[in-house]
Amino acid sequence: MITKEEVKIKPGKLFIDGKWVDSVSGKTFDTINPATEEVITLIAEGDKADIDLAVTAARKAFEEGPWRKTDARDRGRILLRIMDLIEKNKEELALLETLDNGKPISETTNADLPLVIDCLLYYAGWADKIHGETIPVRGEFFNYTLREPVGVVGQIIPWNFPLLMAAWKIAPALACGNTVVLKPAEQTPLTALRLGEICQEAGLPDGVLNIVPGYGPTAGAALAEHMDVDKIAFTGEYTTGRIIMQAASKNLKRVSLELGGKSPNIVFADSDIDSAVNGAMTGIFFNQGEVCCAGSRLFLERSIHDEFLEKLSDKASSLRVGNPEDVGTQMGAQVSKEQFDKILGYIDSGKQEGAKLVTGGERCGKRGYFVKPTIFDEVDNNMKIAREEIFGPVVSAITFDDVADMVRQSNSSIYGLAAAVWTRDIKKAHRLARDLKAGTIWVNTYNTFDAASPFGGFKQSGFGRELGIHALELYTQVKSVWINLGS
Ligand code: ADP
Repeated sequence: MITKEEVKIKPGKLFIDGKWVDSVSGKTFDTINPATEEVITLIAEGDKADIDLAVTAARKAFEEGPWRKTDARDRGRILLRIMDLIEKNKEELALLETLDNGKPISETTNADLPLVIDCLLYYAGWADKIHGETIPVRGEFFNYTLREPVGVVGQIIPWNFPLLMAAWKIAPALACGNTVVLKPAEQTPLTALRLGEICQEAGLPDGVLNIVPGYGPTAGAALAEHMDVDKIAFTGEYTTGRIIMQAASKNLKRVSLELGGKSPNIVFADSDIDSAVNGAMTGIFFNQGEVCCAGSRLFLERSIHDEFLEKLSDKASSLRVGNPEDVGTQMGAQVSKEQFDKILGYIDSGKQEGAKLVTGGERCGKRGYFVKPTIFDEVDNNMKIAREEIFGPVVSAITFDDVADMVRQSNSSIYGLAAAVWTRDIKKAHRLARDLKAGTIWVNTYNTFDAASPFGGFKQSGFGRELGIHALELYTQVKSVWINLGS
């Protein structure tokens, strides 16, 4: 296994037009290891001036550069080279992610990195399979469509799966022939910057991918409102999504948003209870609960409520929370002090509103942003902890008797990102898959992903679908061509 000393983390620069540069202002910010609260390194702080330079480089690479004109299959080949280099450096990338984000090394190694590699493999395969159609129109005309890249794409990503979110964004955008300005989250810029080096080594032409770390209201806002950006793809909080949409309206750039969730995880008495308990554990404690589709509302059918919560509580209280670099650790640190305080605030609110604390409910240790796996029972769907996204290891159990009422409560949320159902009854499973208002429905599983299957939200969880064939819609536009065949 690779060690921290071997990784040799250097100060981070901006990656613009194939060069590693300081920010125009010369400012830097610290990136922190949330498990130790120590500074890992300094990062050049991008702002409007740097975003301008990056967009200019991306525009030039799009209009004049070789990327769009590169044979599609060769674009695919470069994505495969990027994939190969990620695979070659996966231990280093996994460790960087763990240090910067606080998530356990077992997760970065066994979940984040394999999903990143698969995403690049999947979209490398699409690069030469994106094409238009011929259309049988009336009259003496030949009509066909071209499916063209959108142009310069701005992509703003969050800190919960830093490298994976970068892969979800850049892989389809590049496969379709766009050029990109990527803004990683200020909390976790390290793996995105390493990805820039890898792309360069893989032969991606200068200016095709530009990476500008910086804060949201400065660098992020400049990208979202930029007049020469054709599309903005964003993953983050729904409140930020609203700001992005407003900023994007300046030049009517295309927008896709993947926002938050308050996903119901529904357990029926006729399910395999032990699997459902494991699913509930994954649903809320995977990635310290910092997952947009976390199963944060746990609906339990009354007859299994006691048995289920006893088993869940036993497992939750024995989860190994601690040093994320330790291979045996199951839950690491929350990403930042801000996030840590926010989660503890929600825990207080749950106690004040009269929910019953079953386990956890406090910080873990004295150093680092660790929170104990927390279960609240006797939660009412109207309580704040059942309505608002906590983005932490806190689950709210709600008991139900009547299925129709439970479905109504499940759907009574501003969000609609995901939902899960645990049952052995196939009819019930399909009926709920139809009736639940969410972009992803899991039956007898939770947090299952594949690069080929679309992901995105209903309602205020956003719009546009990432992954699968659907992401190609985000990064291409259709042109209709008419040829007069008449005399
Ligand atoms: P969180 O509060 O969990 O960090 P955000 O939605 O604020 O979630 O952050 C997700 C991403 O959006 C980050 O890269 C962040 O820098 C960026 N961001 C935050 N505010 C803005 C903004 N006003 N305009 C553009 N991007 C923003």
